[in-house]
Amino acid sequence: MTIEQALHTRSESKCELCGATDDLAVFPVPPSADDSVDQSVLLCGNCRTQIDNPDQVDPNHWRCLNDSMWSQVPAVQVLAWRMLNRLRGEGWPQDLLDMMYLDDETLSWAQATGDHLADDEVVRHLDSNGVVLEAGDTVTLIKDLNVKGSSLTAKRGTAVRNISLVLDNPEQIEGRVEGQQIVILTQFVKKQK
Ligand SMILES: [Zn+2]
Repeated sequence: MTIEQALHTRSESKCELCGATDDLAVFPVPPSADDSVDQSVLLCGNCRTQIDNPDQVDPNHWRCLNDSMWSQVPAVQVLAWRMLNRLRGEGWPQDLLDMMYLDDETLSWAQATGDHLADDEVVRHLDSNGVVLEAGDTVTLIKDLNVKGSSLTAKRGTAVRNISLVLDNPEQIEGRVEGQQIVILTQFVKKQK
């Protein structure tokens, strides 16, 4: 059975968010490591377009989440939760969110993309030039840094590969310098192009 067939069976050939039956297609829920059935949902064209294009969202369409947020399928819960968060400003989505329960694993999946955040809430990590840093980037130190709790000095010009972002602090990233994982202030790094 293909993923599409499995999803048609699970959903009874309806959009798993709004119940529409036209233009159905498999939608892998990001960030999905694989496009497995568990990490995909069957969505109609209208839902897919609005999820992919936040500026085309019609809040009234998403009243359908009133029903689909109770789905037992984690991937559906994740999409419902993200969209309700995006629309929070409308009022009623907040009421639904207050009733919604996601287990820990599903909640961290739902939060993983930052999709649920309005633009002004997104935590951005900026380097010394104001360039946006992303996990996996390589940065260069722009000054010598003493590493707390060790005699290590990370030299100016050192390249730090594959950084990770400290999620709740936009001024901090983490990276490995001479084998040690350290926290680095974003103001002291420059992103390598
Ligand atoms: Zn739909």
